[in-house]
Amino acid sequence: MSRSHRTSTHEADSAVELNPLFSRPGESTIFPRFTIPEGESLPSTAYQVVHDEAMLDGNSRLNLATFVGTWMEAEASKLYAETFDKNMIDKDEYPQTAQIETRCWRMLADLWNAPDAAKTVGASTIGSSEACMLGGLALKRRWQHARRSAGRSADKPNLVLSSAVQVCWEKFCNYWDVEARFVPVSKEHQMLDGHDLDRYVDENTIGVVAIMGVTYTGVYEPVEKISAALDEIQARRGLDIPIHVDGASGAMIAPFLQPDTVWDFRLPRVASINTSGHKYGLVYPGLGWIIWRDEEALPEDLIFHVSYLGGDMPTFALNFSRPGAQVLLQYYLFLRLGFAGYKSVQATSRDVALFLSGEIGAMEPFTLWSDGSDIPVFAWQLADGHTANWDLHHLSERLRMNGWLVPAYPLPEGLGEITVQRIVVRNGFTRDLASSFLSDLKKEVAYLDALTAPMPDGGQTQAFHH
Ligand SMILES: *Cc1c(COP(=O)(O)O)cnc(C)c1O
Repeated sequence: MSRSHRTSTHEADSAVELNPLFSRPGESTIFPRFTIPEGESLPSTAYQVVHDEAMLDGNSRLNLATFVGTWMEAEASKLYAETFDKNMIDKDEYPQTAQIETRCWRMLADLWNAPDAAKTVGASTIGSSEACMLGGLALKRRWQHARRSAGRSADKPNLVLSSAVQVCWEKFCNYWDVEARFVPVSKEHQMLDGHDLDRYVDENTIGVVAIMGVTYTGVYEPVEKISAALDEIQARRGLDIPIHVDGASGAMIAPFLQPDTVWDFRLPRVASINTSGHKYGLVYPGLGWIIWRDEEALPEDLIFHVSYLGGDMPTFALNFSRPGAQVLLQYYLFLRLGFAGYKSVQATSRDVALFLSGEIGAMEPFTLWSDGSDIPVFAWQLADGHTANWDLHHLSERLRMNGWLVPAYPLPEGLGEITVQRIVVRNGFTRDLASSFLSDLKKEVAYLDALTAPMPDGGQTQAFHH
């Protein structure tokens, strides 16, 4: 049909506003899906149609797969609505938001025990992925400078990381031509712990990534041990290799729940740390942070300058425009919760995780991989020999019928033959909801256990949100 013959979804008709909702044009007909509609619609019509379609998404509060914030209190929502027009890059137009951004990362530098918070450099980002890209780029550029000034080749950079890294690190290596040297996880070494590091690093190693809160299982990599292994390598081989800590979730848990774990700027080898403001920073999606120990860790030639109150403001980011509201929400939470409030929120999530992992670990069909005592995230596998009739993918589908999203996925390279299921406990997943989840889990396990023949394959299509 040619454009001129199409009928408008809304004939201009003032009476239409009087039509009952759901019987107006556009509500009683179908909007085109892949072409822009010919004409206008009433705001309330367009709103209702989009609202209703979004309703078909899962309920985010029952999403036990995601690390990302799904609840904030009413005052935060109000603040969000008042500030969603702010563009983070317009430092000149929104100087106060720019100031608040700086205050936030200075607070994080202090929280992560920077020896001299005034010397640190930090930035907000759209999430940890962008923050990791920036962290990786700084490592690479620093290494390039050192190599070139020594008259050596800077052609073949590599980065050493666990095979259990989040996908953003594979992206970093792919997009910026850095060889990824994966240390595979295994039964003996379920995470990067410094063993055999000697075999992976050389003069072309730009850095080692340590993860505080492995996405697959929630466990911390022992940054202190990794650092000690690198100290030993430096003493023997003269290689001075920095660490970037990917603290996407753990950097907002460890300071509150495991203050004695040494993983942050207390270790001189830690050059930079990132976190997701929208994970255990407790803000809605769209916020990450990265802090460098000092200006030496972030080469000056990566920095661009934007106008700021007639002067200039250094920036290091992949995006130009980006929402500023999330930064204000982070500041709101820092003021609202303080250290004590964060500690209490995170401790509550950990308690729910420990309760649930205790109950699930005690069920005959399951064996725990982790219990949620590092970050409030834990994973389990089907106990060896329990059944040949069903697997965790089937259980995941059954739970979905009750509204719960609990992904099943294979562990990374090295343990890829093992499938686990994982729960991320977040603020808002109460003990009460956890009990409801547990009864649904027991009900579905009983259902599957009562099967007398194997379930058909095909439960394996679920993507893992890592
Ligand atoms: C979630 C996560 C990321 C990616 O963070 P986004 O904020 O989703 O971009 C990177 N690393 C780890 C360890 C993560 O858990």
